[in-house]
Amino acid sequence: MTKSNMQWFGCDVAPGQAVNTDFEVTESYSSRSVVIPIQIRRGLNPGPTVFATAALHGDELNGTGAIRMLLGDRDWTLHSGTLLLIPVLNVLGFERHSRYLPDRRDLNRCFPGTLGGSMASRLAKVIFDSLIKKCDYGIDMHTAAVRRTNFPNVRADLDHPDCLRMAEAFGAGIILHGKGPKGSLRREATKAGCPTIIIEGGEVWKVESSVVDCMTRGIFNVLKELGMMPGKPDVPDTQAVIRETKWLRAERGGFMSMHVAPGDSVVKGQAIATNSNLLAEDQNRLESPFSGIVIGMTTLPAVQPGEPVVHIGRLANPKSVRRHKKQVAGDEVQRIAHQHLATNIQVTEATGVTEFLEPPQT
Ligand SMILES: [Zn+2]
Repeated sequence: MTKSNMQWFGCDVAPGQAVNTDFEVTESYSSRSVVIPIQIRRGLNPGPTVFATAALHGDELNGTGAIRMLLGDRDWTLHSGTLLLIPVLNVLGFERHSRYLPDRRDLNRCFPGTLGGSMASRLAKVIFDSLIKKCDYGIDMHTAAVRRTNFPNVRADLDHPDCLRMAEAFGAGIILHGKGPKGSLRREATKAGCPTIIIEGGEVWKVESSVVDCMTRGIFNVLKELGMMPGKPDVPDTQAVIRETKWLRAERGGFMSMHVAPGDSVVKGQAIATNSNLLAEDQNRLESPFSGIVIGMTTLPAVQPGEPVVHIGRLANPKSVRRHKKQVAGDEVQRIAHQHLATNIQVTEATGVTEFLEPPQT
């Protein structure tokens, strides 16, 4: 049984209609209503209700770009069910170009929220009760955190059959298993009966075309999978499923020369980045602890000990690495994202240096 709602935020939405409206969520310092602009689109036939949200972290705009593409594209129609398009969920963070709310809380750790709680918790409660709980499925779009970039990847609880189905249908090429942090929208929504996946891609404060292409294809794919649009999902032949990841961290303070780009396939022991001082004397080298995929990395080459440099997702063996590499090359959306995201980073060949400068005596 799918959920079906005729009225959304005070508006009647008839089958076949698309209505733009405002969802009132709180009040501003100047006593005005704070609203989330939202489009509710209904197909002519009955079907599931799905939300697509972006900028839950107010500085993560690739998903906003993807949803705005769908809003402006007249060439597609929803066949059945209801689709809620929300380009900016965290409007208060968005207004300040910030991940966080004005009370410095992360909205994506506050779900399902409480009525009498903090500002963030109340906001989460309104969103959760009036929007999320009325949906059957959800897609929530993110980017890497500030000063980092991610190769587009889907994250979902793969032990949940509906999340697994959506994650595979999305077709990002890389699927990371996990329930998500406590209080995150996807974890709490899934727990409350609205299976939700997230997509992570690119950087904050940007709309990157190759990431947007991956996101829009993924949303259409999920809608097709759920029978809300005609056609079959356009997914890569094989997709990498990752159950373990590791951030390689800087061991020395210095400047990182990267030997890999986002989306690269790597094998165990491969040189990932070399740390040198500002006079280009090498201090140490990071190597991949296992075979896998570069899921994300820093875009800021200056590091101190302990700072995250490259995020690698583990694949079973070099054979699966080769298969993944072939898969990326054969899928236009991923191939272009791979080429494009590499232009944000200076990638150099690792030299044969094996002697490194000793750390300073402290
Ligand atoms: Zn985020």
